[in-house]
Order: sequence, then C-alpha cells, then structure tokens
Amino acid sequence: MKNTIPLPPLDWPEFLPGWVWLCGAGPGDAGLLTLHGLNALQQADVIVYDALVNEEILAWANPQAEKIYAGKCGGKISAKQVDISQQLVELAQSGKRVLRLKGGDPFVFGRGGEEAQALVAQGIAFRIIPGISAGIGGLAYAGIPVTHGAANQSVTFVSGHDRKGQASALNWQAISDGAAVLVLYMAMKHIARISRALLDAGRPEGEPVAVVSGASTPDQRVLETTLGALVKDIETAAMAAPAIICVGPVVNLRQTLDWQAIVAKA
Ligand code: SAH
Repeated sequence: MKNTIPLPPLDWPEFLPGWVWLCGAGPGDAGLLTLHGLNALQQADVIVYDALVNEEILAWANPQAEKIYAGKCGGKISAKQVDISQQLVELAQSGKRVLRLKGGDPFVFGRGGEEAQALVAQGIAFRIIPGISAGIGGLAYAGIPVTHGAANQSVTFVSGHDRKGQASALNWQAISDGAAVLVLYMAMKHIARISRALLDAGRPEGEPVAVVSGASTPDQRVLETTLGALVKDIETAAMAAPAIICVGPVVNLRQTLDWQAIVAKA
C-alpha cells in the first residue's frame, strides 16, 4: 500500500543551521523510523548515513539534501570513526543542518555517544533522536519478546566484540548468572568463543537460542537452535551478519508468536 503521510500536527522542533541531529533509523523496516526522524529528514541539508540504514528512508529526505555514505567500521574504533566525527563537526561549522542517521538506536552499540562527545568538545549544538534497536524491535519481528511474564525479569545486552574488534573480554560468568535472557549484538564473528564461554559458565547445552539476520527487512531469516548446536547450525544454515542472537527461554515463545508466519498462513 503506497501512502504519503504528512507529519501530524505537533510543535515539531526546527532544525537550525549549524546543528547536528543524531538519529536512529531503526533495524531495517523503513516504517520503524520515528516521526522525529521523519521531521529531521525533511529539514536536513546533509545526511551522513551508515551501512545499516535502509536507503528507502533516504527517499523521504528533502530532495536538495546531500547524502553522504559513512560506511561501516568493522567494529573497530578506527581512523574512520574519528573522520566521521570530524566530518560532522566540519559540516556543522559550515552552517549546515547535519543529520547523522544510524541503524537501530544511536546510543545502543552505535557510537552515538562518542560522536556526541566530539560535538560537545567543539561547542556544537545537537539533538538525539532515539531509534528502535535491533535487539528489541528486530527480535519482535521474529516473534520474540525480550521480556515475558514468568520467563525473565531482566535482559542483558552484550556486544560480541570490543572497540578493537576482539572477542569481548567480558566476565561471561557474571553475564550468564545475571540474566535469564541475553541479547548479543555483533556476535557472529566470535560466536564459537562466546557460546563456549556461556556453556562453561553453566548455561545448559539445550538452552534455546535464536539467530535473527536481516531482522525486519525482506531478507529476514531466523534460526532456532540450542546453545550446544549453535555454532554448527549457524554454519549449516549459512547465517550471516547483521544478526542478533537471543539466548534464553523467551526464544520458545516464537513457536506461538511468530506473527509473520501467522499472517502468511491467513
Ligand atoms: N545501534 C544499532 C546496533 C549497531 S551494532 C541498534 O541499536 O540496533 C551492529 C549490530 O546490530 C549488528 O552486528 C547486529 O548484531 C545488529 N543489527 C543491526 N541491524 C540488524 C538487523 N536488521 N538484523 C539483525 N541484527 C541487526
């Protein structure tokens, strides 16, 4: 269904020249952008966007806006990240309305904080527009609630690698003991080590695990497996990044809540 929806009446913030707005674009499905994000797109002079941003969203921008692809940094705090922050600073200093568009939520493993700090250091005004993070909204598209009644009262979000791209030097025992549900971002590369660490920490071989790749996009794929079989099954199913991995009892809810399959059958 094609539909052009103007912004509903609200006192929408005005994007002033020389400002940077750091905005989350959601996990993939363009409709998961927020209305503040749409308001930003309509006013921005320049849009600096990441690899995981759905380009359909860019079509909603002011047609005169310049679009700059900032690529991805392979999980490393690389020279490139410094360059991006520097680029945001320079664009703002040249008097542009700069929209920095990032996949998911800018403050969830998105380096939004680092970029905002670079702006603060240069005295540049900014606004943060949260987005739907892949670890919540992406799992919802697979029919997995990150919390559910009796299943869990807490959830832990974990990055599978650190700032240098190495397997995270985390206290896996504490992580394993701390929450019934773990949501792993950027974990595919080091999944063998991570699943071993969780098993060593006492999580059972039979613990349910879901791997959701391309969540909320037309390429979404879901692998349901167990902690013991995870590495082998990822290989057999040729699951690829970007993927969110959910470990814990909520994964079983997908058997009844996989709404995309229910819709497809109706
Ligand atoms: N700021 C983003 C996360 C960026 S880190 C957010 O809040 O979602 C990049 C990681 O996010 C990927 O390695 C993957 O683990 C996850 N991710 C982002 N988009 C995804 C998608 N559509 N499907 C599955 N995982 C995704």
